[in-house]
Formats: sequence, C-alpha cells, structure tokens
Amino acid sequence: MAGTQDLAVEGAVNALSQDVIRSLAAFRGHDAPVVSLYLDVDGRRYVRPKEYELRLDALVRHAQERGNGGNGVAPAGDLARVEQRVKQGVDRSHTRGLAIFSCAAHGLWEVLELPVPVRNQLVVNQVPYVRQLEVILAEHERICVLLADRQRARMLVVELGQPVDRSEVFDELPRHEDDTGDWERDHVRDHAAAVVQRHLRRTAAMAFTAFQRHGFAHLVVAAADEIAPTLEAELHDYLRQRIVARLVLPVSSTEAVILDAVQPVEIQIERAREEALSGKGVAGLPGVLGALVERRVETLLVSDGYDAPGWRCGTCGNLGVRGRACPACGARMEQLDDVVEEAVEEALKQSCRVVVCVGNADLDVQGRIAALLRF
Ligand SMILES: [Zn+2]
Repeated sequence: MAGTQDLAVEGAVNALSQDVIRSLAAFRGHDAPVVSLYLDVDGRRYVRPKEYELRLDALVRHAQERGNGGNGVAPAGDLARVEQRVKQGVDRSHTRGLAIFSCAAHGLWEVLELPVPVRNQLVVNQVPYVRQLEVILAEHERICVLLADRQRARMLVVELGQPVDRSEVFDELPRHEDDTGDWERDHVRDHAAAVVQRHLRRTAAMAFTAFQRHGFAHLVVAAADEIAPTLEAELHDYLRQRIVARLVLPVSSTEAVILDAVQPVEIQIERAREEALSGKGVAGLPGVLGALVERRVETLLVSDGYDAPGWRCGTCGNLGVRGRACPACGARMEQLDDVVEEAVEEALKQSCRVVVCVGNADLDVQGRIAALLRF
C-alpha cells in the first residue's frame, strides 16, 4: 500500500481496486518526486521478457535525459528499483500489464500486476500518476459466476480477475428412504422436486441481489444439464441476457479453480469486443438485424439500456428497422416497440454469445449495437 515503509523490492502484490487508487492519489512526494511506470508485458505481444525490457530501457533513458535537462531531477534510486522489479520477471499467465509506483524517500512502493494490458508510460511527478488505473477500473466489466447443483449454490463476482463478492445458498434435499412403499416414494420424489425448484429460485434471487449491488455485465453459469434450464428460467431477464458462457464446474470448486475457468471467458469477451469494434463485424442496428436473420452472428454486442422500435415478420422471422412489407417474403410485418430486445432473444435462440456492454464509448459511437460474424 501507499505509505508503507517496506523498501524491499519483493513484497505483496496488490489487486487493483478503488481503494488502491484513492490511497495512491492521496500520496504526495513533496521534495522527492514519484516514479510511476506502466509497462505492457502482454505475452500475446511480447513473446520473450527481453522484448518488454527493451521498452522499459527506452522509457528510463528518456526520463533520465529529461531530468538532466530540466529542473526535475530524475530519481536514480527509484528508477533503478523499478527496473530491478521488472527484470525479476512477471507471472504472465495472469498478468498482461504492470503498474509500479515508487518514491523511496517517503516509503512509497506499490506494484500492481494487472490482468489487462496497459499503455507504456513512465511519469516522474510530485504525485503518483493514476489515470491509466482509473480508466482500467472504469472500463473493466465485472463477471458473476453462478455455480449450482440440486441443493447448493455459490456465487462469485469477479473484477479484474479478483473476487469482490461471494454468497452461498444451501437447501437440504429430503432424505430418500429405499424401503418405503410406492406412494411414499412418489411423495418424497415430488417433494424433492419442489425443494430443488425453490432452491433454484433462491439461487436466482441471490444472483439478482448481487446484480443490483454490483451491476455486473456478464454472467457465467455452471450448473448440471438436468437443472441448468430450470435455473436459467428462474433468472431475471436482465441476468439471462448477460449469460456469456456456460461452464462445467462442481459447486465445491476452490476459488482458484473458478478464477482459472473464468479467465478464458474474460479474454474472449475482450477479444470479441475488440474485433467487433475494429471492423471485422457489423455495427449499427440495420446491419446487425440483417446479419442475425442470415444467421451469421457469432457474438452480439449491445450497449446496456439500448432500445429502438422496429419490425418483425411473423411469416419468415425477418427483423428490420423499416416496415410494413417484409423485404424477404412480402408479408405484412408486425411493429415492435423494441426490436433490440427481439434481436437479443433471436441471438440467444441461435446460441450466439451476447455481450451487454456498460459504459463502452466505442460501441456507443458505432450505433450502440454491433456483431462479430461467423462468416
Ligand atoms: Zn417475411
């Protein structure tokens, strides 16, 4: 944490949170400047550590030259400590960006290993430079993982690869007696089914409470095939629309196992968004509806709260922004208050991934709806 007296290069690595940013932002170096480093260590871009170390060398050299020329003195000790930490290596299976803040004169040493890439930047200033951290926290979407079996359920809200909330539900099943008569057995079975139904309803309610508290963007469901449809039917519409993946994971899994299982989902969400927004897809309502009707959509991206009127053909299933005659079959189309909702339903029916983006300015610029295409 900021203000710690621990000057060792090793030390605990903190997860990014609002508290960490607040505490960094409150730090003042006074006479001694603070070194803030952001380094992209993404294994998808830099195969070998040497490659990002060269970037660091260039950043440090630049800071030294600036320090020698101007009135700000480059704090050699802090720069050396930061370099040493980077060269110690990073576990890049979980870390794609590094943020390091150092002011040895006043005991500041903070290392953040981030599961998202950062923009290379080295800033020497009286205060820690936290802007990139603020952007990461604002843009990164929370994921809720819901695990359930017939009597137990657990929920984990994950932010930047870390759990930020957890809850559990337990509804004990009635015990089954093998030596009872037919009536008794049927009765127990009906009773058990009712208990399971009630349990899944309580599980869905737990997830909705978490949604109201955290506003997570994505939901991952891990439930056995026999109960998954019932559980998903019990979920609030808002949550059903946010299902982004289904996993096979026992309810008793450790948090480490759950977090590992969620990581590829996070990467998938991010990649889908990048690709859809970089032109390898279609943006805007008319284009997206057309692609859906042609069953070409792999991932549908929608801005949270976006709705728009439109038309649906009851004869051939066509969706469009203009009516009344269906351009595909000529039948009279039905007018809809919200064709976006219809598009989401259609995408789910086609087993597309649906990603509801909250506060994504890029998507908003592109018409608040976009799709990544299969072909
Ligand atoms: Zn039609």
